[in-house]
Amino acid sequence: MASHTASQRYLSTRGGSYDLSFEEVVLKGLASDGGLFIPEEIPSLPSDWASKWQHLSFEDLAYEIFSLYISPSEIPSADLKDIIRRSYSTFRTKDVTPTITLDKEKNIHLLELFHGPTFAFKDVALQFLGNLFEYFLVRRNQGKTGRNREHLTVVGATSGDTGSAAIYGLRGKKDVSVFIMYPDGKVSPIQEAQMTTVMDANVHNLAVDGTFDDCQDFVKALFADPEINKTHRLAAVNSINWARILAQITYYFHAYFSLIRQSSFLPASTVRFVVPTGNFGDILAGYFAKRMGLPAEKLVIATNENDILHRFWQSGKYEKKPVHGSEAEGGIVEDGVKAHEDGVKETLSPAMDILVSSNFERLLWFLAHQIYSTTSDPVEKRRKTAGDHVRSWLNDLKSKGGFSVDAELLKAAQVDFESERVTDEQTLATIKEIFTTTSSLVSKGYILDPHSAIGLAATYRSTERSKPPTTHHISLATAHPAKFSNAVETALQGEKGYSWNEVLPVEMQGLEDKPRRVSHVKKSGGWQGVRTVVVAEVEAELQAAEKAAQQ
Ligand SMILES: *Cc1c(COP(=O)(O)O)cnc(C)c1O
Repeated sequence: MASHTASQRYLSTRGGSYDLSFEEVVLKGLASDGGLFIPEEIPSLPSDWASKWQHLSFEDLAYEIFSLYISPSEIPSADLKDIIRRSYSTFRTKDVTPTITLDKEKNIHLLELFHGPTFAFKDVALQFLGNLFEYFLVRRNQGKTGRNREHLTVVGATSGDTGSAAIYGLRGKKDVSVFIMYPDGKVSPIQEAQMTTVMDANVHNLAVDGTFDDCQDFVKALFADPEINKTHRLAAVNSINWARILAQITYYFHAYFSLIRQSSFLPASTVRFVVPTGNFGDILAGYFAKRMGLPAEKLVIATNENDILHRFWQSGKYEKKPVHGSEAEGGIVEDGVKAHEDGVKETLSPAMDILVSSNFERLLWFLAHQIYSTTSDPVEKRRKTAGDHVRSWLNDLKSKGGFSVDAELLKAAQVDFESERVTDEQTLATIKEIFTTTSSLVSKGYILDPHSAIGLAATYRSTERSKPPTTHHISLATAHPAKFSNAVETALQGEKGYSWNEVLPVEMQGLEDKPRRVSHVKKSGGWQGVRTVVVAEVEAELQAAEKAAQQ
């Protein structure tokens, strides 16, 4: 496959939009035909990548990878480097995403993705996305003053992780406001404190006296409202935004390089990545890395009891729930769409509680593209065929609650992926097991958060099929344990050497006592009530900024 560095363009998975630029797909988020944006071609690695990239820092590696997807005519390389440098300067470790060895005997390594401002992997992408938004807006606004400046209003709903990561990604950014709705009293105290103690003028928290579904419905209604779309440029930061997938590719390469530097890694060794999965964004970045040429033998999907992906890989059937006919569907709003209460099971790993996985649509496109046409077909025809298949599957998902693929497509999906389903009980057992078995190795036992524990449980099962020492497993750790006190306390209370106070990082200590800023929104006021609040708060923010500029 040729690398199209000079003119990378984007299209929609449902065939409707073609030939868009990176800037267009980042600002739009979702295609107008309801599809997701993908690059026209997955670039392949330069032939000397293995030697040339091996010793690069995280930032330099990100630059090399992003440059294959973003044309320098869109973002000049000096600017791209600067955006990357600023995005990762907020991380607490120099390595940004360090890889540590957890089990020497079984060659199990943990890729720690939680060293960013909100202690979850979503920071890796959202720190970058916030800077990108600002970069595009400021560039569009050159020479413009006051009300002539374009202003972006980001609106999102959250049940936890996405909201705080979005707020920390966008706080203080020029020409951008962010509104995050959450169900009052229904997000964890730490996550609520993370969101509401941010005092930047462009950050707006809206506590809704309803459920997560209500918040999500409000967001959907706003995006569909012609009136607010006339006066405000709305944008989304959920994991369907292509820039988020792109940003996550970096750490697959970074982890691979830290692994091959180790003496236990032999030229004949193989590598498997195991990813705690909800909306399929994180692992999709691994798929892109693999298709680019990263030598990963398999990507292992680890789900909790909301196991639509696991069931697909077993059966070729993608079905919301065999019994419930909920009409809710994944994602224009939040990662891990909670949909209707009867469809989603609440688990100890809430960031993976989803009914359907939005980003799975992107994988379907690439599989259909590979299976249902041949390389001798004209390029446009191949793309159209893939888009037609995806559109019809997604229509069935909406109208019938599911669809199935043929054996050939399932087989193609199984070439790159395996899947595992992990229950709450197994999650707790894994947190405990890892804590006790590592106490003798390191000075203190290693404490996993429940999402990372799901990855580890799946990793141990994978070692039964692809055995050490030939195989190395890299298991992705997606959050810091301090964010999920409930699961961690349940698993470890009373264990020798365990104390919750030592889990809590200094950055989170006292957070719950800090001053907060939040507006309360009544569900009874409907989405129009939310619109009134959004419009008024943006107006007040702009007026205050103008006043400050005059002084
Ligand atoms: C969002 C999230 C996940 C799931 O990632 P996807 O990209 O939605 O598959 C897993 N763990 C944590 C802690 C998360 O916040």
